[in-house]
Parts: sequence; structure tokens; C-alpha cells
Amino acid sequence: MAELPPLREVIARHGLSASKALGQNFLLDEQLLARIAAIPGDLAGARVLEIGPGPGGLTRALLRAGAQVTAIEMDRRCLPALAELGERFPGQLTVIEGDALKLDHAALMQGQPFHVLSNLPYNVGTALLVGWLSGEAWPPPWRSLTLMFQREVAERIVAAPGSPAYGRLAVLAQWRSAARIAMKVHRSAFTPPPKVMSAVVHLVPGAMPEGVSAATLERLTEAAFGQRRKMLRQSLKGVPGALEALAALGIDKTRRAETVSVAEFVALARALGR
Ligand code: SAM
Repeated sequence: MAELPPLREVIARHGLSASKALGQNFLLDEQLLARIAAIPGDLAGARVLEIGPGPGGLTRALLRAGAQVTAIEMDRRCLPALAELGERFPGQLTVIEGDALKLDHAALMQGQPFHVLSNLPYNVGTALLVGWLSGEAWPPPWRSLTLMFQREVAERIVAAPGSPAYGRLAVLAQWRSAARIAMKVHRSAFTPPPKVMSAVVHLVPGAMPEGVSAATLERLTEAAFGQRRKMLRQSLKGVPGALEALAALGIDKTRRAETVSVAEFVALARALGR
């Protein structure tokens, strides 16, 4: 295993004071980082896309696990530290300076399957997740997503019907993927500590339900959860064919969106067609 300088030393030597504007809260505990890198399973020889490597704590755990890492970082102050790390793992690390929200990830990974791992900046995390989960094409190019979120967002992703956290994000994350909270992370694990607790969510793609359009499902959940306290007969009134589909499927139109299971949303979307 390559002997690397402690992360604190890397940060001090390269002057990487955490920037609030870039959502920088660094993880420096190498055992914790190794546990996060182990969540997707054996990464030896696997391609990994890492968003926001910062000083490279998670990156070094991924490299030690034998992954082939492409890392997108927006803060150019971090690039010399990452270049130094790349030299210790020849041929294993490619760093791209840029905004992960604006880049085509599948193209960057040259059409090959890849795992995504990231200690995300909180402000861009949800937007990236929605991007990875959206679209009609399935299975996606990624084999798994292992992502740090603010704990409440993690809970919204894995929420079950009937809970206040259940909504559009849960349906999007669960209708053709399996999502779970793989690890809870205390705020004190970060430097500097953020105000909120965190959790790592792990998602793997599942089968695409037949005859269902992602756009139709999205339209349904938008309408249903847009007025989540209203009964379905009210909230779905503006979606053509929805009230007939509820009746045909035997879904009581006096129920509210938060009681409708992911499978029921999928059945409704299928009934509506494209
Ligand atoms: N992965 C490191 C760790 O675990 O210590 C850093 C985590 S820090 C929460 C988030 C990192 O994402 C920062 O290095 C920040 O510069 C970077 N970042 C923020 N927005 C970004 C974006 N849109 N695209 C790429 N990187 C971004």
C-alpha cells in the first residue's frame, strides 16, 4: 500500500482552507474513507467517477482499492494536491477541472460502465442525483451511486409511503433502482463540521418496469405531491386520464399522494401510457 502524507499535511501544504461557497467540508479519517470506498463492493480494476475530490481523501481510498478513477473538481486550488496523488498511483487517476453539473458523465467515462462515489457538496448533490436517475434510457451507464447527503435528504431518498419524507424524490429513486442508507456520518467527522448530520446513500439500478414512461411518471408525481395534502381526485385533476386510471386500478381517489406506493405510481403511469 502506498505510504501517503496525512491529509492534514496535504491541506496545509497546498493552502486548501475550506471554502463555504464551494460547499467544502473535508473528510480526513482514512478508516472512515476506506469504509465509504468499500460500500459498492470490490472496486479492483473498476471505473469510478468521483465528484468533488477536494484534497483527495476519498480519492486515495478509491485508488488504494484498485479503482480506475476519473475525478471532477471545480476548485483549481486542489489540482496540485490531486496531481501529486496521481503520481503515487501511476495510470489510475484522471482529474478533470470543471463543474460536474455541466459535464456529460457518460461521455467522460467513454461509454464504459462506471461506479459513482462522492462526498457531494450539499448544494449540487440533489441536482446531480436527479440527473443520474432521470431519462427514458435504462439501465443507466452507472452501476452504482454511493453519495453523501445531508441526513434529511438521505431519508427522503429511501422513504417509504406514509412517512412525511416520502415524495417525488423517493419515487424517482425507487421506481427502477434500489436505494438504501449505507452509513450514517456524524457532523464531527468533517473539517470544518457542517451544521447538519450526514448519511451515505447507496443506489443500484434495477429493472425498468415495462410500458412505463419516465416522463409520465414524473408528471404524475409532480401533480400528486405538488398538492400533497389534497386527495388524489383533486391533485390529479389536471392530468388527462388520471382519474379514470385510478378507478380502473381500484385506487381510492380520496387517498393522498403520500399513501400511494411506488408500485401504485408505476401502475398509474403505465395505465396513462405515453
Ligand atoms: N471529497 C472531499 C472529501 O471528502 O473530503 C471533498 C468534499 S467537499 C464536501 C465537496 C467538494 O466538491 C469540494 O472540493 C468542492 O470544491 C467540490 N465541488 C463543489 N461543487 C462542485 C461542482 N459543481 N463540480 C465539481 N466539484 C464541485
